[in-house]
Amino acid sequence: MKCRKCSEKLEVLRQCRRIRLRCTGCNKEYQIHEVASDLDAETEKILERYTVIIYD
Ligand SMILES: [Zn+2]
Repeated sequence: MKCRKCSEKLEVLRQCRRIRLRCTGCNKEYQIHEVASDLDAETEKILERYTVIIYD
């Protein structure tokens, strides 16, 4: 999963009950719904672990 701004890798970031994706390059944070259409398989797999939290 790449950043839309700088194309660096996004990492899944858990903040209390919220999940964000943060760019390892420019530190921009994305909400899941912002990037939902672009999620790749690797990122989806990580997010599956947090499904309960996301939809709580
Ligand atoms: Zn970036």
